[in-house]
Amino acid sequence: MDPLKIYGSKTFSDDVMREHLPDAVYRSLKETSRLGKPLDPGIADIVAAVMKDWAMGQGATHFTHWFHPLSNIAAGKHDAFLTITRDGKAISEFSSAALVQGEPDASSFPSGGLRATFEARGYTAWDPTSPAFLRGGTLYIPTAFCSYSGEALDSKTPLLRAMQAFHPQALRVLRALGKTSSRLVAPTVGAEQEYFLIDAQRYEARLDLKLCGCTLMGARPPKGQELDDHYCGRIRLRVGEFMRDVDEQLWALGIPSKTKHNETAPAQHELAPIFQTVNISCDNNLHTMEVMRLTAKQHGLACLLHEKPFAGINGSGKHNNYSLTTDDGRNLLAPGPDPAENTLFLVTMCALIEAVDSYADLLRMACATAGNDHRLGGSEAPPSIVSVYLGAQLTELLHSIARGIRPSLRPPVDLHADLSVLPSLKQDTADRNRTAPFAFTGNKFEFRMPGSSQSIAFVNVILTTALADVFARIADRLEGCADIEHEVAQIVADTVQHHGRILYNGNCYSEEWQREAARRGLPCLRTTPEALEALRDPKNIALFGRTGVLRESELSARYEISLENFVKTVSVEAHTLLQMVRRQVYPACVRYLGRVSADLAAVEAAALPHAGLRGHAQALAAGTELLARRCDALGAACDTPPSFATPREHAAYVQDTVRARMAELRQSCDALEQMTDSEYWPMPTYVDLLYRV
Ligand code: ADP
Ligand code: MG
Repeated sequence: MDPLKIYGSKTFSDDVMREHLPDAVYRSLKETSRLGKPLDPGIADIVAAVMKDWAMGQGATHFTHWFHPLSNIAAGKHDAFLTITRDGKAISEFSSAALVQGEPDASSFPSGGLRATFEARGYTAWDPTSPAFLRGGTLYIPTAFCSYSGEALDSKTPLLRAMQAFHPQALRVLRALGKTSSRLVAPTVGAEQEYFLIDAQRYEARLDLKLCGCTLMGARPPKGQELDDHYCGRIRLRVGEFMRDVDEQLWALGIPSKTKHNETAPAQHELAPIFQTVNISCDNNLHTMEVMRLTAKQHGLACLLHEKPFAGINGSGKHNNYSLTTDDGRNLLAPGPDPAENTLFLVTMCALIEAVDSYADLLRMACATAGNDHRLGGSEAPPSIVSVYLGAQLTELLHSIARGIRPSLRPPVDLHADLSVLPSLKQDTADRNRTAPFAFTGNKFEFRMPGSSQSIAFVNVILTTALADVFARIADRLEGCADIEHEVAQIVADTVQHHGRILYNGNCYSEEWQREAARRGLPCLRTTPEALEALRDPKNIALFGRTGVLRESELSARYEISLENFVKTVSVEAHTLLQMVRRQVYPACVRYLGRVSADLAAVEAAALPHAGLRGHAQALAAGTELLARRCDALGAACDTPPSFATPREHAAYVQDTVRARMAELRQSCDALEQMTDSEYWPMPTYVDLLYRV
């Protein structure tokens, strides 16, 4: 397999377009896709014709408008290129109208009250900034999805709007700082994707994995991740074949998959692509997840993208590496040889600090899902308090500038590992801090809160929108200012003074930080229902309104949908757990208890010592009784809930009552699992799932 030959072979890539489109059309499309110029409707005809020929030439028979409704999965219906003429002859057809606009029935997708079901119209609109691609005989056209009245019903529309709001403000800042060569500034993102791979047959044998993507019960295995012997260890053959297959498909789709390795937990792995412009990264990540799930099936495996498939073992996240890049290759977050003199770096850094501090609640909200709640704050992933890690040197630098002192830089230190045969290594200016939610890693920020199953769109909408807003004010200050150096120092001083509370270089897992963060007034939003309130905060509604990224109605739709999603997800989990207990665990425990009781009677009749056996039988009986009671309690909570005045109240009930009863019931199951003869236990255990791949 030659990656260079495969790469991009299934995308309607820049090369394909340059080769097949007339020069003027190619250039016009490029202006739209790279520089955000409005699409010239006159070129759509030619693009559609060329796209169809290219796709059919590669064996495609259908096309689809690929979009991402607010349900976290991609959607689209597939139309054949085939059509028939009046005299019954088959011809192929793909008009410009079919390329540019589609009209799926929007009533079956979540709209959060943006649209009544009888008003079913929704539109998909071609997104020329993200390349079309081929999969399974279908041409996929990335599209944005909106309602009849133009409200965004998807995750892509606000992301494109945020980029549109950000770019002119960033250009103003660049110009004010004398950087005149760049024509475009856009966020670039590399999303590291964590996942678990387990055996498909064992996956099929568990209802919780099948229906919820995670286990709802399971005693801790004797060996978890204590020995740290999985991280970056040897990749098993079967897993290696899966990874190779995934890479090959991703490369063909023009997705630059770069790094693969074993993660911390047994059966856990990671894939990281090379970073790209944020909207493309976002599409590619959604795509990557689909490819991984399907490929796993073909290899007799199941790919778990859930944030917490196994209790007591590390969950999976999606690190969102973020920076800002110009069309001429300048990274605004690259400190360069002398960051103290790099005004662009300093103001960008300040803008990010202010953006994250002002909208920490929104960033936390964008990571709030039922699954991710189990992960955040579990001494494995970042805690649910958002803070920024800069490292000692950079923190010191900002503080010095704020105090008007010209800081002295520590020259890079050579590291010698006490061995002359090794090349000498340059020590980085700051060590890594794995506990921080938002960490500076040299020339980009890494946001570690997003969950592994989530789209990265909303997180990046928030970062980019907040930055657009802060950059607008920074540009106001810099434009027409006589002494730029002085003004930049002043911006640094103001940022440190007003937003310095978000900076923390210590251990974010510690209790000391929980207390300190509370003292600093940073939001600590532990659960999804709490975090979602950020969507109703007037300060946040004002931000999205000012920047034109989301209307209040669109925010409130997202609020409703997210609350509903949370309630539904936990309810499905609760009902799944109930069914597993009622139909599998409880009957198994009763059968085993019957067996032990019979054995006890026989041993007693034989006048043999039996104190231990009696104790075992008693513990089993008591455990099984408790299981039955807890099962009834959860059943009652699910079947006869009180009535709720608002969706928020319903979500709080699910969080406080349903989840608490699920936890108790699970605890009973796990205790019984450890007392029960393995022959009787009705499903694969954690050892089976994690170690028999
Ligand atoms: P680390 O070891 O710090 O995680 P890597 O170099 O492995 O860093 O990068 C992790 C991810 O960050 C990759 O997806 C990579 O492409 C991405 N990345 C690197 N530079 C940038 C950048 N300037 N902007 C956005 N993402 C970046
Ligand atoms: Mg990383």
